[in-house]
Amino acid sequence: RQLIRHQQLSEQRFQATIDQPAETRDGFRVRLMANIGLLADICAGLERGAEGVGLYRSEFPFMTHINFPSEEQQYHDYRQLIESYYPRPVTIRTLDIGGDKPLPYFPFQEENPGLGWRGIRFSLDNRPIFVTQLRAILRASVGYDNLHILLPMVSRVDEVTETLKLLVTAGEQLRQQGLSIDPPKLGIMVEVPAAITLLKFVAPYIDFVSVGSNDLSQYLLALDRNNARVASRFDHLHPSVLHSLVTLMSEARQLKLKVCLCGERASEPLAVVLLLGMGLEELSMSSYNLPKIRYLIRNLALSDAQHWLKTALQQDDERKIRQFLTGVLKQQQLDYLLSPGDSAE
Ligand code: PEP
Ligand code: MG
Repeated sequence: RQLIRHQQLSEQRFQATIDQPAETRDGFRVRLMANIGLLADICAGLERGAEGVGLYRSEFPFMTHINFPSEEQQYHDYRQLIESYYPRPVTIRTLDIGGDKPLPYFPFQEENPGLGWRGIRFSLDNRPIFVTQLRAILRASVGYDNLHILLPMVSRVDEVTETLKLLVTAGEQLRQQGLSIDPPKLGIMVEVPAAITLLKFVAPYIDFVSVGSNDLSQYLLALDRNNARVASRFDHLHPSVLHSLVTLMSEARQLKLKVCLCGERASEPLAVVLLLGMGLEELSMSSYNLPKIRYLIRNLALSDAQHWLKTALQQDDERKIRQFLTGVLKQQQLDYLLSPGDSAE
């Protein structure tokens, strides 16, 4: 009963700021976006004040079909999404199956699925499926200018240039059918560590990047968090993950690339303190967590977060980082926002 009461009181507090921007006490504005998997999630995002869709996981509807959905079926889903959020931006990620997201009607066996036929690799090796999806996405955006296309699991420049060629061809085909197609904004997920190193080479071809902190942490630490034997070692506040993100942010800033973070980390209060300190201007998360994170950001100052980030970056172990940040939130009287397991204590 105490837990329920605590939850209700927190929700009331969060509700009071639902129409207000996620802006720190010293005026740093963060855009809060929704992660969406199925069309049923559309309303939840809008009701909770999402400023757009930072990540539409297009593989989810693929997983609920009994066969690859047709261009027409996909078109209707994407159109509904784009229309519902217009004029807010909508980021549709192309198919990211493989690894822990198998398609029941396209089974394949791999010894190391996490390092296998995933995301953009699968799409480029299965062109008809990929082109059908690109055509459906482009058609769905006719008359709207809020579409962003995001490519998953990019680890090579030619994955982006090949996709661009396919996008150009698909656009030309549709124009010949009389549709007015504008080139969409294109971005890559930074979730394979190689993408950080390659950023300067990919930058001329893209408009934005989106950090997939779930996979980025898994691949940097070589740890599968779904494997019970090692899951307790998985922590996206690991010093190596933090330092990699700092490198990415400074590289992106130099290249003038917009950065969003759309992994689970975006909804964990301790992590958000550090992401603020790094200057992340866009966070995308499950709609449920939007009010809590908006409330947290409105009660922090960017200058403090920058200072706390410096201290966190000097620690050699994620438990020390959690302990330090838990202390910080206690001092700010915001520790009631933490869930069990957030703190190292
Ligand atoms: C991620 O890897 O952080 C991410 C957002 O992608 P997904 O969780 O869908 O793999
Ligand atoms: Mg991922």
